[in-house]
Parts: sequence; structure tokens; C-alpha cells
Amino acid sequence: MADGAPATVEQARVSVTRDDVVSWVRAFAAEVEAKKEYLTQLDAAIGDGDHGINMSRGMSAVVGKLDEAAGEQDIGALLKTVGMTLVSTVGGAGGPLYGTLFLQMGTAAAGKNELGPDDWTAALEAGIKGVEARGKAEPGDKTMLDALLPGLEALRSSLDGGSSFEDALTASAEAAGQGMRDTIPLVAKKGRASYLGERSAGHQDPGATSSTMLLETAAATWGGRGDAESPSEGGTNG
Ligand code: ADP
Ligand code: MG
Repeated sequence: MADGAPATVEQARVSVTRDDVVSWVRAFAAEVEAKKEYLTQLDAAIGDGDHGINMSRGMSAVVGKLDEAAGEQDIGALLKTVGMTLVSTVGGAGGPLYGTLFLQMGTAAAGKNELGPDDWTAALEAGIKGVEARGKAEPGDKTMLDALLPGLEALRSSLDGGSSFEDALTASAEAAGQGMRDTIPLVAKKGRASYLGERSAGHQDPGATSSTMLLETAAATWGGRGDAESPSEGGTNG
């Protein structure tokens, strides 16, 4: 009788469940794996060429943990597990920064089994605040914050303007992508790239690129946008 049921209008998404969060984390891990070489190339230009390797090592450890912890944790505990795994498996700047991002998101989502748009916004904001507190970078310093902050801003303003959760997620991913591309002319003020001074200009920041992937995979996984396009690929890989 499944085929005989009347075609229902697709329901707008109003929240994400624990399983949705797991799907997003897995999708991010898969994206990092697929773009490992690209992230490494970006980091080779202005850093030490390990960002792709770092993120891939960390996220494959995370996927292993997800398999172990299947079904037992609420969203907050799950995100904290992701953060702790990243802190303990990834060196350099990226590990502690991404670790903090997920740990603080987890704290904001403590005890929750479902996140509505406002919960997701609050979690993302808490994660970003954690990155700011830990890394002391400011907007325009050519870091992951230059993707995350516009992503958060667009998420909030879309929701405030009455957009659906899905459309707000898409706007958030697009704004992160724009912020990522806008890192190209910037001179790095934080992290290894800052050692290059003016020579860091003309290159896209690797951390802003992986952070864009994070918000793109959220939009794709929760908004059902699929993976038809991948703006985080930028223009360098053609
Ligand atoms: P490392 O620089 O130790 O080799 P990664 O290569 O994994 O670590 O990560 C580099 C990325 O980390 C940069 O592209 C930048 O986006 C981000 N980053 C570095 N320092 C900071 C900071 N203080 N605050 C925020 N992000 C930072
Ligand atoms: Mg590096």
C-alpha cells in the first residue's frame, strides 16, 4: 500500500535528531577524506601542508568512536565525544581549535535529543566563541573564523527574517563559502600562515575551507540539498 498512499507535500524540517547529527558528522568526515589532498595543498601554500592529513586523521578517529558509542549519547554528549577525540588525535592548531568548537557545541546542546533552529544557532555560536577564546583570532585574520562567523551571521539573520530551517542552513553554508573565498586576499595575522606576512595574501585559508565544508555538510545532510555542488572546492582545483 506504500505506493498507493497519497503523495504528501514534503514536510519542512523543524529540528535535527541525534541520528541527524551523527549523519552530519559522518558526512563531514567523508568530505574531509575526499578533499584531504586539496586541504593539504592549501596548507602547503601558506602553512606546513598538514591540514588535510590532520583533519582526516581526527575525523576517522571520530567515526571509529561513533561506531562504538552508537545510540547511547544525547546530542551534547555526542558532540563532546567528537571534540575530545579531535583534541586527543590531532596536533597543531587545527586539533585544539576544532576540538574546542565541538566541545563547546556539545556543552550548549547538553542533554538534548533534538535541536531546533535556535538550538543549532546557539550551539554554533557557543562553538565559535570557544574558538575565539582559544585562538584569540579576530575577523579578517585569515582563519577558520572568517568562514564560521559569516556562516553564523547568515544563519541567524535568515531565521530572524522568517526563512525555514533548511533555507537558513543553505544561507549559512553559502555565507561561509563567501567568507572562505574572501580569505584569499587577506594577510594572515594568526597561526603559521602569519609567519609569511604579506606573502600569505593570494591564498585561500585551509581552516576556513574545512570550516566551510562543516557548514556545507550540515546544509546538505539536514536540508537534503544533496552534494550536487561543492563551493568549498574554490577555484584553484580546476
Ligand atoms: P597547524 O597550523 O598547526 O599546522 P592546521 O594546519 O591543522 O594546524 O590548521 C591550520 C588552520 O588553523 C589555519 O588555516 C587557520 O584557519 C586555523 N588557525 C590557526 N591559528 C588559528 C587561531 N589562532 N584562531 C583560529 N583559527 C586558527
Ligand atoms: Mg598546518
